Amino acid sequence: MSSKEEKRVAELRDVLDYHLYRYHVLDDPEVTDAEYDRLYDELVALEETNPKLVIAGSPTQRVGAPPSEKFLKVQHPSPMGSLEKVTTDEALEKWHQDVCKRLGTSAVAYVTEPKIDGLSINLIYEAGIFVRGATRGDGRQGEDVTPNLRTIKAISMRMQLAERETPPSLLEVRGEVYLPLSGFNQLNERLVAEGKKPTPNPRNAAAGSLRLKDSTITAERPLSIWIHGLGQREGLPADGHWESLEWLRAHGFRTNPYAERHETVESVAAACRDWEKRRIELDYEIDGIVIKVDSFDQQRRLGALHDRPRWARAFKWAPMTAETKLNKIHIRVGRTGALNPWAQLEPVEVGGVTVSQATLHNEEDINRKDIREGDNVIVQRAGDVIPQVVGPVLPHAKGTKPFKMPKQCPLCGVDVVKPEGEAMHRCPNRACPSRGLESLINWVQAAADIEGVGEQSVRRLWDLGLVRSLPELYRLTKEQLMELEGYGEISATSAIESIDASKQVPFNRVLFGLNIPDVGWVTAQNLARHFENVDRLLSAAQEDILEVEGIGPERAEAIAEWFSDEPNRALVEELRSLGLRFEIGDELKPVEGPLTGNTYVITGTLEAFTRDEAAAALQAKGAKVLNSVSGKTTGLIVGEEPGSSKLTKARKVEVPILVSGTKLRRLNQKPSVWDLSDMSRCDTGGVRPEKKTSASRKRDDFGTTSRPGFGRSGPGLGGPTSTTGDGRFAPRRTRTGR
Ligand SMILES: [Zn+2]
Repeated sequence: MSSKEEKRVAELRDVLDYHLYRYHVLDDPEVTDAEYDRLYDELVALEETNPKLVIAGSPTQRVGAPPSEKFLKVQHPSPMGSLEKVTTDEALEKWHQDVCKRLGTSAVAYVTEPKIDGLSINLIYEAGIFVRGATRGDGRQGEDVTPNLRTIKAISMRMQLAERETPPSLLEVRGEVYLPLSGFNQLNERLVAEGKKPTPNPRNAAAGSLRLKDSTITAERPLSIWIHGLGQREGLPADGHWESLEWLRAHGFRTNPYAERHETVESVAAACRDWEKRRIELDYEIDGIVIKVDSFDQQRRLGALHDRPRWARAFKWAPMTAETKLNKIHIRVGRTGALNPWAQLEPVEVGGVTVSQATLHNEEDINRKDIREGDNVIVQRAGDVIPQVVGPVLPHAKGTKPFKMPKQCPLCGVDVVKPEGEAMHRCPNRACPSRGLESLINWVQAAADIEGVGEQSVRRLWDLGLVRSLPELYRLTKEQLMELEGYGEISATSAIESIDASKQVPFNRVLFGLNIPDVGWVTAQNLARHFENVDRLLSAAQEDILEVEGIGPERAEAIAEWFSDEPNRALVEELRSLGLRFEIGDELKPVEGPLTGNTYVITGTLEAFTRDEAAAALQAKGAKVLNSVSGKTTGLIVGEEPGSSKLTKARKVEVPILVSGTKLRRLNQKPSVWDLSDMSRCDTGGVRPEKKTSASRKRDDFGTTSRPGFGRSGPGLGGPTSTTGDGRFAPRRTRTGR
């Protein structure tokens, strides 16, 4: 081997480590996947011809080592303490008072970070090189899982150092290894495909993956890490936790972007409350907030009690999962004829709310998890989303049987069908009460959101034969309503007034409420924007509909078919003559602004905005936001986990790639045209769209989860998914490649 090759190997390792750092830690790659792969392949080739050059810290050695017999116990250089927890604002305040008293000052700053529900580990770096990693164990000694940790690309094998910078001779770095939710779903899908048992939750999956004897299997799991602290840190130039986090990030460690520094305990309490709601936005599970006194000096003076530092607390929220008995599996037939199974549960408190019903998705899902009537099950709540049954607590209760979907529709008795490639069973009967009744319920609860007329009234009106269609709802009289239990003169009058007022709901909501196949909230909005009035939609061919953002050929065909169907055309005419709105108002018309003439495409998850918010802000400035990149695109805005096809296309046609973040950085040579961080301050036409949850983003077109302005959806009378579509949802993509 020549010294030239030796030099090149060292150079490649540096470069590859640097690019991994840009990609995994900074979320700001400098090279394409293809360029990275080319460098990586070059290193592999050089190492293959010169095996002596292979070192443990090489990027090529992240693929896993041969299986080991057992994990060695190792002593942590300094013990890993455990956190005392608080669960209320009062307890938090009491701790703060204690801290102030002990320090003799009320000038105490805190740092908060999401508390990752993962696996604590301790990483040791000697002179900047990763040498060993161990599980927490009992806090004093843990198990050496170094080969498995090496497979996690978010763990840096070498610190990023400035020129001539001397790293600390020994640094203990602490973090939490976790499995992103997207990775967890993917893993379970694969396990099931291989005929294996799915893992019950991401934490178990992460712990199991990290303790696998065969690290080549660990390498296949998309584990990641958040670094949140230090053990031994001699020579580290930082006076407090906040500074140390900044130092760690700059030196190649993946620290959580949601860490915050607070000057007051009130601000800490507000952050704890805020994150309890926001936690569903994250692609990993958190079960609370870790709070630390910022100053190292104050930390030292406070000390610890039985390995529990007095300078830190975990603010833990009520658990989002609980165990209870599944009494019965019911079927509800949705407005599209889909059979939605749901679980009637022994009431149980989950995250502070009593839950007695939960969704079960579909037959395949139930049987994959082997959920049976009579089982004890784990119920999970995530934010505003309908509670779901995660799985049974095994073994099954005695005498239980696997679930079977009924052969006939429970409402009309017609044989149910399961179309090829679909997860849902359906009642094919177009005259099935489900279609009309559920459409009406969807109308009063979601599409038109009529105050004073709820699901229960609609069911009664249906049963009495008074209202069997939307036009009949609008012809309903006060006298008819007063025949129903629960309506007096006043309430009936105001209900009729609400029904009348609902004629003014915008065109997009009317479209959503018409029960057109596969037209959910977002598609309805896009259709309304594109066609502007129903006449253009009534005469649209499949090709015309295909031009609408987010609509593929199949859906376009179904929509065109719906509008060419005579009874549907008659329905539209009738509703129009009753005074409902069939054209867009100013709210959906394009705005003239500084960005008029510019078109943008957004991909991935943005840091500070939902995609809808970002799109709305751009549209408010006159820009257009489209779904696919072309030569005419002004810029591709890239968030976390971007779609690779859009990125590739953008590079191919030389569209500027704009990276969102606190500062908009540009990756291409072309200058960026606007700053995302500025958008919160820009005028969005007075209406900032409501913050949607990540869960609703996942499902945005099926209307299963929280929708803007729908206070009354969710578990209600007669079933958990009163306004459901098909409950299908696409798991978030995980990053592939590096
Ligand atoms: Zn039916």
